[in-house]
Amino acid sequence: MARLARRICNSDTSVKGNHQKGQGSRPEQRRFDIDTLPDYEHSRNDRSPMILQTENRNCPCGSGKSYSECCQPLHQGEVAFTPEALMRSRYAAFVLKLPDYLRATWHESSRPETLSLEDSPDWTSLQILDTNQSGDRGSVLFRAVYRLGKGWGFLEENSDFVREQGRWYYLRGDTSEGQLKPGRNEPCPCGSGRKHKACCL
Ligand SMILES: [Zn+2]
Ligand SMILES: [Zn+2]
Repeated sequence: MARLARRICNSDTSVKGNHQKGQGSRPEQRRFDIDTLPDYEHSRNDRSPMILQTENRNCPCGSGKSYSECCQPLHQGEVAFTPEALMRSRYAAFVLKLPDYLRATWHESSRPETLSLEDSPDWTSLQILDTNQSGDRGSVLFRAVYRLGKGWGFLEENSDFVREQGRWYYLRGDTSEGQLKPGRNEPCPCGSGRKHKACCL
């Protein structure tokens, strides 16, 4: 999903507010110090309006859990324990437009200098097709669907991940793209969980 998000990002969508420190929910888990990661400029305590709207809703990654119990802790600095968890949180970061998180979880050897999500498509759903992990290497094959006019486009990517000092990073990916033509009885690409014919058809 790298090349779908280029250009410079200097928009400040963060909102200052009276937020919790975010430490309460899972204190036993290790946190990495996200503030020391390169260019992680927004404090993890700043939340965009989009995040505030999303907290109690289903996580954008499609896990079926609420955002606050799924990808939000990772966006706030907790460690992803598997390549799939990191992949899901990165997809959710594309949806929620969190370029700093994407750069912070990008391996330094391939991390883009700047990242803007302004031209990013309107992502609607994520499907994990396969995952592999062997030691500190991992890969995730996924399909991400987005709105394309009145239809749907998809990006399929086999992403490589590497773990360094206990932390997974996105390394690179082989991508292919196409248009999606879901059958009437297939799950709706909008991610609702309903059949296509009963939803967006
Ligand atoms: Zn999630
Ligand atoms: Zn739908």
